[in-house]
Amino acid sequence: MAYNDQNIFAKILRGEIPAIKVYEDDRVLAFMDIMPQADGHTLVIPKAQAETLLDLPAEDAAYTIQIVQKVARAIETALSSKGIVLMQLSGEAAGQTVPHVHFHLIPSSVHKLGRHATEMGDQEKIKGFAEKIKAALA
Ligand code: AMP
Repeated sequence: MAYNDQNIFAKILRGEIPAIKVYEDDRVLAFMDIMPQADGHTLVIPKAQAETLLDLPAEDAAYTIQIVQKVARAIETALSSKGIVLMQLSGEAAGQTVPHVHFHLIPSSVHKLGRHATEMGDQEKIKGFAEKIKAALA
């Protein structure tokens, strides 16, 4: 399906709406999920215009995974997390709600996850986690 550049992550990438960013380079952005399923829930997105993982050029996929690892390590350090749930929903039928490919990093035991994209988080609390993750990335 053709990429829709009006999706919310495309707007974040263009700076049209705010995000609590923890990492950015010329190919990837990582920012806090606005409706976290656990404390420290972070999203990593390639800047390439791709709706699902299957639409993403292999080189971008490979690079994005490197940043997923980097951010995951920072989350583990920052939040003293013992494990990270890595979630990637490809396609509406799989539950994908934002049509720009992204990886969820959820620092929690799978048994403690909140419901997906359901409840707005406390923005000040989320900013606090972002500061810790950024410090661990520095
Ligand atoms: P998915 O359902 O896999 O497409 O995940 C989309 C995720 O984006 C959900 O976990 C939402 O909570 C999150 N989300 C939606 N809008 C925003 C936003 N403006 N800033 C940060 N995260 C968002």
